[in-house]
Amino acid sequence: MRFLSADFIFPVSNPPVANGIVAVDEQGCIAEILKPAEKNIPEGEIEHFEGILCPGFVNAHCHLELSWAKGLIESGTGLDSFLRALDSLRHNELPVNQQEAIQNEGMEMYRSGVVGTGDISNSAATLQFKESSAILFHTFAEVFASDPAKAEKALAKGAELAETFRALKWNNSASVTPHSTYSVTEKLFKMISAVTGNNVISIHHQETPAEELFFKTGRGSIAARRLFYNPGLEPFKPTGKSPLESIAPFLDKNRKTLLVHNTFATGADIGFARQNFPQLTWCFCPNANQYIENRLPDIPLFIENECDIVLGTDSLASNYQLSILEEMKTISKHFPFIPLQEMLGWATLNGARFFGFDKLGSLEKGKSPGIVNIQNIDIESLQLKPESTSRLIIAAGQ
Ligand SMILES: [Zn+2]
Repeated sequence: MRFLSADFIFPVSNPPVANGIVAVDEQGCIAEILKPAEKNIPEGEIEHFEGILCPGFVNAHCHLELSWAKGLIESGTGLDSFLRALDSLRHNELPVNQQEAIQNEGMEMYRSGVVGTGDISNSAATLQFKESSAILFHTFAEVFASDPAKAEKALAKGAELAETFRALKWNNSASVTPHSTYSVTEKLFKMISAVTGNNVISIHHQETPAEELFFKTGRGSIAARRLFYNPGLEPFKPTGKSPLESIAPFLDKNRKTLLVHNTFATGADIGFARQNFPQLTWCFCPNANQYIENRLPDIPLFIENECDIVLGTDSLASNYQLSILEEMKTISKHFPFIPLQEMLGWATLNGARFFGFDKLGSLEKGKSPGIVNIQNIDIESLQLKPESTSRLIIAAGQ
């Protein structure tokens, strides 16, 4: 048994404990959280850490296969330019070794404290890493096709990819998922639903103002990109509704669904979602939103509406690192009134619940969630600082 202490222990499922002690066994299983006076442990047996101890993080939205694109795409140009730049890079020989990039960045993500990840995949490039990684993965085999005639082919490719991941001995949780509200047709949404069973899905949602414009008017950069990649396709018939209202009839409302980004979501969008989708979770990727659109979602509005929130990093095509702490630091910088305890819930327990990672998410007896040490925080106000760092000090149980 090891006894770990810090200025504060954040079990997440319970309030923080000042100068508390975590008792953890050799398998990383939590035995107890103790208050300083609760048990007489010889001082020499206690390992002290500066800052706080909390459970390992869950990165709810990542594209690990895009790790090769780190630093290659200019920031602040908007989603349309970003996607076109990424696409043109992808169509040539990749400038760096993709497998090495996945290994290096995946390991860096792990060292920074991520023990569970929801990972979008368009290929089997991450198979090798996932097969042996200590991180627990759920793979979303992503599908899109704006042309209804391409729906069968797109679905077959996604279903085969999901099967490839399901064949792994470890990290074999996978589901077919739609890419976004606007890149999947009614026909394809229904086909995806039919093969996904009761598994989780993840949808890129309201990352740009163009998404609303597309559904309301049929115009704008998404409409132009749709025709650029599908010349001759009939113009999109606008629904006159919001993106989520437009696709709601094709979604299973009782399925656990992750809406990712939500940068331009309004109170009306949140209200509609809450009324119609009881199993909805909202994922924020603040650093990617700043990288691409130079803007953040109205996070306080989601808190007011008691939304279920998780955090993600998106990919290294639109982020400088795959670190959940860095996402929390950005939120903290812009919304300093959000308590650390609440943000840690988004970074750990909420993600673990969404993916069904039962052993992860909180420092509770019997769980083995991994333990992260966050250093250089403001201990008086319990706030993150620009120089705060995170490190996984105890591995999660397998
Ligand atoms: Zn994404």
